[in-house]
Amino acid sequence: MPKKYIVVTGGVISGIGKGVLAASTGRLLKEAGLDIRSVKMDPYLNVDAGTMNPNQHGEVYVTEDGYEADLDLGHYERFMGINVKKENNITAGQIYSSVIDKERAGKYLGSTVQMVPHVTAEIKSRLTSIQSEILIIEIGGTVGDIEGEIFLEAIRELYLDIGRENFMFIHTTYVPFLRTTNEFKTKPTQQSVQLLRRIGIQPDIIAARSELPIASGQRRKIALFAGVAPEMVVNLPDIKNVYEMPQNLFNMKFHHLIAQRFNIQINDTFEWDVPKSFLPLKIGIVGKYLGTDDAYKSINESIFLSGAEKPEMQDSQEIEELEDDEVEEMLKHYDALIIPGGFGKRGIEGKIKAIKYARENRVPLLGICLGMQLMVVEYARSIGKLTGANSTEFDPNTPYPVIDMMAHQKEILHMGGTMRLGGQETPIFEKTRLSEIYVGKSSVIERHRHRYEVNYEVCRGFLKSPGEDKQALTISSKGDFVEAVEITDHPFFIGIQYHPEYASKVGAPHPLFKALIESARKG
Ligand code: GLN
Repeated sequence: MPKKYIVVTGGVISGIGKGVLAASTGRLLKEAGLDIRSVKMDPYLNVDAGTMNPNQHGEVYVTEDGYEADLDLGHYERFMGINVKKENNITAGQIYSSVIDKERAGKYLGSTVQMVPHVTAEIKSRLTSIQSEILIIEIGGTVGDIEGEIFLEAIRELYLDIGRENFMFIHTTYVPFLRTTNEFKTKPTQQSVQLLRRIGIQPDIIAARSELPIASGQRRKIALFAGVAPEMVVNLPDIKNVYEMPQNLFNMKFHHLIAQRFNIQINDTFEWDVPKSFLPLKIGIVGKYLGTDDAYKSINESIFLSGAEKPEMQDSQEIEELEDDEVEEMLKHYDALIIPGGFGKRGIEGKIKAIKYARENRVPLLGICLGMQLMVVEYARSIGKLTGANSTEFDPNTPYPVIDMMAHQKEILHMGGTMRLGGQETPIFEKTRLSEIYVGKSSVIERHRHRYEVNYEVCRGFLKSPGEDKQALTISSKGDFVEAVEITDHPFFIGIQYHPEYASKVGAPHPLFKALIESARKG
């Protein structure tokens, strides 16, 4: 059971960086020498984020233990430098389905099963089963949302059970600036604090997000209305990028507010190794989820942490209709290309054209998951002369199913799973580019999320073994599955069946991204 709890709630509007604040607080306290875990509570009814469309909800983040999580868990991992697990994400869907399962199994011994106490008890037991000194709980959504009420109620019960002194509530709000009258408006903050109080929660800290720094008079006003001391109103004006937040909080001595409140000793140190300048490289992501920047979030963050400028999105569907010279025209200003993961047929042929362009023109290319599968399809068609080669995901009747659902996958499906998920061991061959990138490693654990895989029997004719032919597409990992392919004699032409983007941390971006950027830099 955690000894202390920090609960981060949000008010006024969503999307103001509550998750970043929670993750930054975690990093600060970790650096201060405390044992920290975090939990994201998502009030939606999905059991996990696996079924959510990246166009609306952003990427699905995969943990090492194979859980398909909300992308906020990525912030926790990157900021706090830890690997989170399934237990670090609680959704309303998980809670309700477990309560209903228990009811069906007769576990409630004839009681009428109710939101209070049964659903709240389920939430509390999930929280208290996590082992840590301090547990940071981020409650998704905004105070007042109908789905979120039960989570706040559970927290209120929990502090009654184990003592208010073990809890610290940080309420993140937004303070708009009205240009017409040249003033900050604190009313929305006041009202969201009232909503919190109405359900029995008095915040300890108000983290007031704003576009510009808020004058001290307004901060005092917020303090007065929120019932906190003026120093407990912390203003967080907009920053250039989210990675500035932990350093800013450290400079403001935010961790001291927490240490004083809990009466605990902390070290006053902080190391934060994020790039300060960025290589002006043009990196293109050829993808199809263009609805939100968050759809390829971990890839973008991995590039950032490797010290290159933000990649540009290139619509794979748009490339589908183009002739080779038009593809070149569209892609020639990129120093490197990434073909990301994805599901479904839309845009596939565009990605294949981009791969062909990169292979033939020696442009650095990293193919991730679906991206790797399409590298094999492209090679089979162009070099293997297997006309019509495809993945059975897109063409179930292809004469050459170079990517297919293999026996292992069918077994997983039979077991009720749908995908190969989470950390899997990938042995690395000597004499490959991959072995140079993973310096000194003969095997690595990387995270997977896919149903299909390379069908080696069909690829036998053209997929080479390491050292056999540097110019050919080569299998560069061993084991039951083809986990990686590369053309060794190419500036960078590597496809991996796994997702390296989930493994980047502050100060330690995944080596595949560093290597891609290095190749792009060399031009
Ligand atoms: N759709 C492919 C599969 O299921 C690739 C999945 C992915 O890119 N994450 O195997």
